[in-house]
Amino acid sequence: MSNKIETKCIIEGWKPGNGEPRQLPIYQSTTFNYKNSEEMGKLFALEAEGYFYTRLQNPTNDAVADKICSLEGGAAAMLTSSGQAANFYAIFNICEVGDHFIASTSIYGGTYNLFNVTMRKMGIECTFVDQNLSEEELDKYFKPNTKALFGETITNPTVKIFDIEKFAKVAHNHGVPLIVDNTFATPVNCRPFEWGADIVTHSTTKYMDGHGVGVGGCIVDSGNFDWLAHADSFPGLTTPDESYHGIIYAEKFGKGAYITKATAQLMRDLGAIQSPQNAFYLNVGLETLPIRVERHCSNGLKIAKYLENNDNVAWVNYPDLPSNADYELALKYLPNGSCGVISFGLKGDRERSIKFMDSLKIISIATHVADSRTCLLHPASHTHRQLSEKQLIEAGVAPDLIRLSVGIENVNDLIGDLELSFRGL
Ligand SMILES: *Cc1c(COP(=O)(O)O)cnc(C)c1O
Repeated sequence: MSNKIETKCIIEGWKPGNGEPRQLPIYQSTTFNYKNSEEMGKLFALEAEGYFYTRLQNPTNDAVADKICSLEGGAAAMLTSSGQAANFYAIFNICEVGDHFIASTSIYGGTYNLFNVTMRKMGIECTFVDQNLSEEELDKYFKPNTKALFGETITNPTVKIFDIEKFAKVAHNHGVPLIVDNTFATPVNCRPFEWGADIVTHSTTKYMDGHGVGVGGCIVDSGNFDWLAHADSFPGLTTPDESYHGIIYAEKFGKGAYITKATAQLMRDLGAIQSPQNAFYLNVGLETLPIRVERHCSNGLKIAKYLENNDNVAWVNYPDLPSNADYELALKYLPNGSCGVISFGLKGDRERSIKFMDSLKIISIATHVADSRTCLLHPASHTHRQLSEKQLIEAGVAPDLIRLSVGIENVNDLIGDLELSFRGL
């Protein structure tokens, strides 16, 4: 019988033996000790499992990756230094110069830049699509060199819900994997593999860490995508790796092929590792993830309803509100609630929004989202300040949009804070 997620968050990952520390130790060491060169040599040849250099693997990081792997129901996982590194590796592990992939337009701005600017410079082309398109319409964007499809379970900051089943079907019809960034939902609220996704990524910086203490990322592979069945499309996994003694990852490592390749090649060469210290903090955060997520969602829904009924508010976007365009999708994929992020707009001009935000006492203005402290941000005045109104609308960010990330404080205190600011307008 498999354990429920609350239990997994506590017992998975680090499994101490007799006399070993009960809490996950921080292996604060660059290198690992071996008695003879024979044993060490096997590690370098990927013929034996073990640790030799923290850029490739570290026991603290592996324990935390194993926990996240178990939460997602995956086959293998690895930590990265950030969510950006996770999404870059997830694509770059199967795409090279001359390849193409497809992503939803409604993704996090940092990921959009990575795909649209930086990866384009590397000769990898991304086409962005409206995630509401039908299967037939999506089919038209595939080319012979398309290698992956990408979306976010709950989009940041527009909190739209990605129809994972629809995209999985389209991806698989074209012989490519579906990669889903599950940062906002977390495996507590949605496990994309159960809906057909092949690879999941996370910015663990958000709810997983939960306290805003460490930047980090994670990639989890379901092990379900059959690379050998599409061998021509994925030569990196299905032909010999000359930089590793001619190993063919998909043949030698089966369900672990994708993560082994990402570790052995990308981490070896690019080195975006998470520090063991940060992995330790992440693990502490994961222990309470289900309790926190429940509170983020219940606070989020109460505040969304409060805003919806407030005369100062022009519009509210929160997927758990029955009035929301994605409500049905939210019920399907996130029946226990979506997340704590709400976007809304105030009636009146930009100055009125700024006055409202500046008079809040508990709720702070911060670029962060998805941690225990409630904060908000006005992209038009902050993160997207350089854009004109027209450019803002093109980027999917309404000029009056305020992104509110609801934390785990007492919800009545938060509503009281909002109420006082509204009265001062
Ligand atoms: C924050 C975020 C990222 C980037 O993560 P970092 O840890 O900041 O590098 C990627 N995807 C989503 C959905 C995010 O919210």
